[in-house]
Amino acid sequence: MIAPYEPWTPALLPESAAHWPLVARRGEESSLVRVGDAVFGGEQFVVIGGPCSVESAYQIDRAAAGVASSGGLVLRGGAFKPRTNPYAFAGLGWEGVDLLAAAGRRYGLPVVSEVMAVDQVERMAQSIDMLQVGARNMQNFDLLRAVGRSQRPVLLKRGMSATLDELLCAAEYIVNEGNSRVVLCERGIRSFDTSTRNTLDLGAIVVLRERTHLPIIVDPSHAVGVRRWIPPLCRAAQAVGAHGLMLEVHPDPEAALCDRDQALDLEDFATVMESLALTRR
Ligand code: PEP
Ligand code: MN
Repeated sequence: MIAPYEPWTPALLPESAAHWPLVARRGEESSLVRVGDAVFGGEQFVVIGGPCSVESAYQIDRAAAGVASSGGLVLRGGAFKPRTNPYAFAGLGWEGVDLLAAAGRRYGLPVVSEVMAVDQVERMAQSIDMLQVGARNMQNFDLLRAVGRSQRPVLLKRGMSATLDELLCAAEYIVNEGNSRVVLCERGIRSFDTSTRNTLDLGAIVVLRERTHLPIIVDPSHAVGVRRWIPPLCRAAQAVGAHGLMLEVHPDPEAALCDRDQALDLEDFATVMESLALTRR
């Protein structure tokens, strides 16, 4: 007979757990990470929605309105964007941070945005409710320590070629500085197969649920990179035990300055939320 996935027992931790004692699972409950009205790690399935980058006051206002009215609980929007192409739009910087914070306040949504450098952390933490460490910075250890010293919850994305052990070590850096409010995010890893932008590793969710008490969400947008492939993977993430999702949502995807092909429009987002039985009534 196959041993039950739940309840968890300490015997299921690998030897490498010695490297991440603070984030290792200790009991059956996951830890709860509260961001505004959203609580990651418990009964709630928390959906974060919003554009890849904040582009204008109008764009982020429309995105926020759509996310809020469909039951999204957190608004996202990049202001400092890590772009592979050095000439691509890299965000509005502090102006984008201010526009995001204002839109969040207007619609009662807490906001999350990526912090790229140690010297951005303090200022970002003044108006942004949750600090995102992106895939490309998962092993920027100085940045991990800096967000660990801040009082804000952290969304830590898995590096594009990081093992789960390395992801847990990265989370340990943050928690070890005194900030235990960390949410992990699987966003696809680089594999031999280029059919999708990255390869969504849903297997990571079952393993992480067993090994760590930290909440785990899935970002299918960056994982597949193609709009029409996102809805079924949202349902799959929910089925496999993720605590929530991060989705790129844009009021006019064709006009998006960043990650256009994977952006859901407001109607798509509403449909996805309905399919997850999350629509606010
Ligand atoms: C993002 O979420 O805006 C982003 C850049 O994602 P990732 O770090 O996973 O590539
Ligand atoms: Mn993006």
